[in-house]
Amino acid sequence: AMDAEEETSVFVYDRREGDYPERKIQLGGVFKFESFKARIREVFKLKDDEEFVVVTTNREEIKDTKTYDKLLEDGDTLYILNNVDQELAAPTQERIDYLPHYDTLVKSGMYEYYASEGQNPLPYAFAELIDNALAATADNVGDRNIELRIILDDRIEGGKHCICVLDNGHGMTSKDLNDWAVYRLSKFNRKDRRRSTGGAGQSTPQATVDTRTRVDPAAGDSDLGFWRPRSLNSEISYFGVGGKQAVFFIGTTTRMITKPKNSKDVHELVISQEDFEKKEKNKEKIYSGYIRNRKPGDTSHISSEEEHIRKIITEETGRESFTAVVVTNVNTVHLKFLKDYMKYWPKQLSHIYHYYLHGPQGNIAAAEGGRKPRCDSPSQHIHIQIKLIQMGRKEKIVDLRDLQDDMQTQYIQKSADSFEFKATVEGTGIVEGILRYHPFLYDRETYPPDMYAPPVVEEDEEDLVSTDRPARGKRPIFECYWNGRLIPYTFVDDFEWCSPPKKRGVIPMECYNRISGCLFTNDKFQVSTNKLTFMDLEVRLKDKNTTYSMVKQGQEQRAKIDRQFFEWLKDCHEKYDKQVKFCGFG
Ligand code: ATP
Ligand code: MG
Repeated sequence: AMDAEEETSVFVYDRREGDYPERKIQLGGVFKFESFKARIREVFKLKDDEEFVVVTTNREEIKDTKTYDKLLEDGDTLYILNNVDQELAAPTQERIDYLPHYDTLVKSGMYEYYASEGQNPLPYAFAELIDNALAATADNVGDRNIELRIILDDRIEGGKHCICVLDNGHGMTSKDLNDWAVYRLSKFNRKDRRRSTGGAGQSTPQATVDTRTRVDPAAGDSDLGFWRPRSLNSEISYFGVGGKQAVFFIGTTTRMITKPKNSKDVHELVISQEDFEKKEKNKEKIYSGYIRNRKPGDTSHISSEEEHIRKIITEETGRESFTAVVVTNVNTVHLKFLKDYMKYWPKQLSHIYHYYLHGPQGNIAAAEGGRKPRCDSPSQHIHIQIKLIQMGRKEKIVDLRDLQDDMQTQYIQKSADSFEFKATVEGTGIVEGILRYHPFLYDRETYPPDMYAPPVVEEDEEDLVSTDRPARGKRPIFECYWNGRLIPYTFVDDFEWCSPPKKRGVIPMECYNRISGCLFTNDKFQVSTNKLTFMDLEVRLKDKNTTYSMVKQGQEQRAKIDRQFFEWLKDCHEKYDKQVKFCGFG
């Protein structure tokens, strides 16, 4: 049925003969078929005795008030014909809309984060929100505080759980917040609405402001731009999808609360599956809504049952700028994982952000027994905390920098030596690389076991000792980081120059299996929108025009990399492998 708003109208073609243009028929005040027909006669100047039928473009006849109510929608195209089956005297144009369904947003989360090799993807959804927080705090003068707060509240049926990510970054203006909600609106196609807030343009030792204009690297821009070691540039907002996908993976309702610097007001926007469904039912515009602008700390719009949200709002007072992403109606499948694997999943996050947390050299403090005071590097200002709040229990707080057993820390801790190199791909693609040697000590390999591997059923001791490929096993050598952030599902097996030779040489074959490695790419490499995989890293690295050179004390070496790798590996074997041989038994 149609409501009788002033603007409601349909477009009608007289296609009995000729090819006259369409006429717009206003439907305001027309409730019955008879008056509709009268209006058509009037607009088309038809005589009272002139016979015609009115049909939809699907050739359904509108012939009484019942069909009029049932078949007509605002904006429809109709024909006047001599009879229902008449051939069109001339072609017509029918107006259509094809706004994407709201499932584009709602279901994006569900299908984008997939499990791989037994890993639960939930931490990767958290990572999208942390990415945004890192990007938002990149220009902070002091500390960059990011908190992942998980509130598990089972006191009522169904639970009032709440998962939020809070940061003290530059926040968003209401325009920015509007842009946030637009799926696929990336910073590259967003209009450059300059932030009116302060901060930009200042340069501090912790954070040098990157003032180059934004260019989409995937579009083939060819300047080297701004480069940092390990590409730790906090430029990890790329596609305009991450945040939305993540929140709809976590739950069905999201409240974005934000305050930009130098603004008196807080801006708040709620998007939810329930709200989309309601709008659809009421035939309202799906992709529109309201931003609430209010003073900091004002909870008057939040019911007293939503005490966790109230608490978050109360904390706003006195904060210069911030963003809080608050997800409620949390998908219950996540809850058990969060609780039961609290020892495990924070390590996944500290793995992803290892180099942001510990700096370009990684967690070397751990390798040195934590005795050496850490140098004052920009990474020291990044604080990523996880706070687990369970009603009636003591809060658990984990500072990601304090975790000493994420996969990268293990690689660094258990390495005896390293070999750095650099690959240049098509001129501007820069990939830094590091190889680490994990020696054989006395009676065993020191290569760290894969913490993500599905647990193997250990049959008996002997089997363990006599695997045909010890140390790394069949695992690939390299993990891959993009703009300093781990892309968890992409690995690169090896390169020609570091793979074992076909023929037995001076270096025992096992040594080739004692190396682990990392690759760090800049943004000239593309990743998938879920940031789980690189698109074509390996192909481009293995292209014949890609050049490799060893890097010593920050300097690229001229000599051939395969020779230098060989020397390094030989050296590692001679210096670090300590094998105990038992002779004379029996
Ligand atoms: P990607 O798909 O790579 O994540 P994106 O970060 O642009 O790209 P979203 O994560 O959906 O996409 O975020 C959209 C935009 O909202 C961001 O570009 C940023 O401008 C803004 N935004 C998101 N989170 C924050 C935040 N915590 N603080 C400030 N601005 C934010
Ligand atoms: Mg993002």
